[in-house]
Parts: sequence; C-alpha cells; structure tokens
Amino acid sequence: MKIVNSIIKGEPVIHDEKYKIHNPADTREIVSEYSPATLDDVKYAFDVASEAFGSWSSKTPHERAKILYRAANIVEDGSEDLARLITREMGKTISESKAEVERVSWILRFYASLILRINGYTIPSQFKGGLILTIREPLGVVSVITPWNFPIAIPAWKIVPAIATGNTVVFKPASLAPTIAYRFVEILHRAGLPPGVVNLVIGSGEKIGREMITNKHVEAVSFTGSTNTGLEINRIAGSLDRYVRLQMELGGKNATIVTEDAPLSEAVEIIVKGAFAIAGQACTATSRVLVHIDLYGKLVEALKTRIDSMKVGNGLDPSTDMGPLASMDQKKKVLSYIEIGKNEGAKLVYGGYALESGDYAYGYYVKPTLFIDCEPRHRIFQEEIFGPVLCVTPYSSIDEAIELANSVKYGLTLGIVSRDLSKIMRIAQGAKTGIVRVNRQTVGVEFQAPFGGVKASGNDIYKEQGIEALDFYTRVKTIYMHW
Ligand code: NAD
Repeated sequence: MKIVNSIIKGEPVIHDEKYKIHNPADTREIVSEYSPATLDDVKYAFDVASEAFGSWSSKTPHERAKILYRAANIVEDGSEDLARLITREMGKTISESKAEVERVSWILRFYASLILRINGYTIPSQFKGGLILTIREPLGVVSVITPWNFPIAIPAWKIVPAIATGNTVVFKPASLAPTIAYRFVEILHRAGLPPGVVNLVIGSGEKIGREMITNKHVEAVSFTGSTNTGLEINRIAGSLDRYVRLQMELGGKNATIVTEDAPLSEAVEIIVKGAFAIAGQACTATSRVLVHIDLYGKLVEALKTRIDSMKVGNGLDPSTDMGPLASMDQKKKVLSYIEIGKNEGAKLVYGGYALESGDYAYGYYVKPTLFIDCEPRHRIFQEEIFGPVLCVTPYSSIDEAIELANSVKYGLTLGIVSRDLSKIMRIAQGAKTGIVRVNRQTVGVEFQAPFGGVKASGNDIYKEQGIEALDFYTRVKTIYMHW
C-alpha cells in the first residue's frame, strides 16, 4: 500500500490523521493511504509558491521547457504503471487510463515547445520614431482545483501551461483520487522542477477549498468540477476586495443528434462510446440522444443489442468495456436518477440496476442503462447524472432537434451523426455549446485544440488547452517605444 501526502517546497507533509483510498472495482483492495493537509499547510503552500515565483519566472523558457520534456519522458517510461494506478484508484478501464497517460506526455511536450515561441506583437505608433509592442508575462501564483474523473490529464492540462509560462502553483486534487495526483507532482520534481514551483495540498473542498481562492497570494484560480462548486467559487472570488482571474470548466448534459440519413451501425458505436466511456463519468459524456423519428425504432433496437454486448467489470481486465463507478456516492446518485426517470414516466428499456453479485459484490457497478421516450420535462433529460444512463428522444425536424439540444442549462459538447453536410452545418451553427463533434463521440477531445463550455458548463472567459490556455496563464503588457 502506498502512502501519499501533500508536497510543499518539495517536501512531504504528513500528519497523524489518515484516510484510505479503496479500489472502486473491489473495495477490499486499499490503493493508498493519505494524510490530508491542514489549513495552515495550505497557507504555507501559498507562501512557498509566492516565494518561488521570482526565480521560476525569471528562468528562460528554454530552461523551463527542458524540465517539461524530461517529465514527458518519465511519464512515457512509467505509462503502464501510471495507467494501472488510475484504474485502481478511480475505476476507468485500462485502455482509457492508458489514453489518459499518453495525453499527459503530449501535453508536456506541446507546452514545452509552445513557450519557446510565446509571442506578443508590434503596433505602429502615431508618432515618428515610435513603435508599440506587447509582451506576455506570468500572473504569479495560480490555484489549481481538479475533479477525480481525469485525475492526471486535467491536472496536467492546467499545471503544465501554468508553469511553462512562469507561474507557480498550489494544486488541490479531488480527495477521491489523490494518489495519481501525488505521482504526477513527484514526476515533475524528478524531472528537475525546483521545490516550491508546484505544491500539492490533498484535502476536501469543504476543509481547504475556501483558502484555495481567498489566500492573499492567489492571482488566478483554474477550476474543473461541478457547476454548483463553480458557482460557489465564483461567489467567494466575487466577495474579495481584489480581482482573481477565474477559469471554470463545469458540468454537462451533452446530446448527440442523429439525422435520418445517418449510418445506423456507425451511429450506435459513436453513441455507445460517448455514453459509457468512464462509465458515463465524463463532463463531455453523451447523456441524451436526439434521433429523427424515421430512425427512432431501429436505433433504439440497435442500441439495446449493442449495450447488451458490453462487458462490465474490473477495468484492469483488458476485455472490460465499462468499469465501475468511482465511489459509493456516485453509485447512489446514479441509482437515484434511475428511480427518478422511472417515476417521471420515461421508459426504461435496458439496465436500470446495480450489479452486486459474484465478482461484482465488492465494487460500485451499475448496469449500462437506456431510457427512451425522454422529454424535456424529465429531470433525467435536464440534469447531469454523471453515470452510465442514456436517454433517447425522437424529433421530427432539424429546428426541433436544435431546440431540444439547447433546452438544457448546460452547454459543453454537442455530437452530430449525419452524412448530410447542410444538416451538419445548420446544427453546428445552432448549437449553444462550446464544442461540436461531427461523426465522433462527444468524449475524447484533443489537447492541441481549445476546450471549454458555455452557459452552466463554464464561465466562458478563457479556454483551456490548445494555444488558448496560454491566454489564461499570462497577462499582456503594452510597451510604448520611442527613439
Ligand atoms: P466537485 O465540484 O465536487 O469537485 C471538484 C473539485 O472541487 C474537487 O477537488 C473538490 O474537492 C473541490 N471543491 C469542492 N468544494 C469546493 C469549494 N467550496 N471550494 C474549492 N474547491 C472545492 O466535482 P467532482 O465530483 O470532483 O467532479 C465531477 C464534476 O466535474 C462533474 O460535474 C463534471 O461534469 C465536472 N467536470 C467538468 C469538466 C470540464 O472540463 N467541463 C471535466 C471533468 C469534470
């Protein structure tokens, strides 16, 4: 069993209080034991990060890039081991974990190379012998708060552009998956990151979350998590007597629209991948399918058959298609939404129950679940379930499909399965989402492209990932030159 702890100034911070992390596929296995940070630890972490900022930000981009490239190599060399840890800690399948780890080494190399050409621009002056130029500077200390569902990729796509551009970081992972977060910070240090540049504080949002926003050194908060927590952070930041830059990536209730000309088997594969990857615990998961009435019956039947072929089990088994939910709370929440759906009158046609016998007895397993005839008045149509529950709804016209897709408070991703370019473009332009995925599952975005939601899915000021991430972690200074 691994012992994990907070890391401040490169040193472990250990207290007597300890919590165990159990494998959600088999809770008899203890993955790690961690010691939560106190409020004083968090304050110390911010003091340390503030102190480290001067020397880290004055390093050349080349010096910082070298460390990131070394970290990418360490991640790649240890990828099997890291992937197994993700699966044991939060349950996703081993192939999902491997893809997540691979993405981390890409992220490290991407920002290592991007910062070598981080640029401002020049503007002509109205006065002779003058030129205006802009440069980009780091912000200072950035607070990074992450969820458990992509427990290394999300920390990486925040921390890496933050430190690449010269900021220092205090990082609070979700207390459900601190082990892989600890490993990532350890790797950064092994790659040569100076102590104090990234400080890890493990603990609950309830106990240390507020300090992550209100601490006097915080220049910016990059948060990914639920919409409710995001709104709470927004309120806390808004009550301060100074400005804190906020980047908020929140919940989703993503639809995939299937037009009448869509190839059936391709549509089914795209929907199943989008709905049941990570057991539906992705912000970008497909949780609604809107299908043209002419294809409705056929698609429902094909979905039932395809879902029935899925193997649910321990994610470490390479033949598993869908792992367990990450926690007992997740399992309870998903089962309660299934009851809500049934009581509201949506028609349950597949699954709808927990798997609890035999090999499933010690894990948080829920059968992939399919509801049909879902309507916008149903809570399962409107609310983020964050589990393997899919609702199918028929539509008769493209306008109706767009209206249905947009009729929820969230706006993260919209999927389209179609062969008709004019329909694709009408839907894509009508979508009130930050991302549209055409003939691809809603989950699985790429690190080199900007990412972010609108409406209740994000504060929609700064994008994450891609080149755009650098906008959040830097500020523009305008220099007027005259000679
Ligand atoms: P959560 O909001 O419960 O927790 C997220 C993080 O915030 C955790 O580290 C938690 O400890 C911390 N936190 C909780 N209360 C806090 C407070 N008052 N102040 C500061 N920090 C606090 O979310 P979760 O259950 O870990 O993750 C699932 C949610 O994350 C889903 O809603 C999902 O859609 C969303 N998510 C969004 C994206 C995206 O990019 N849009 C990606 C992944 C997950």
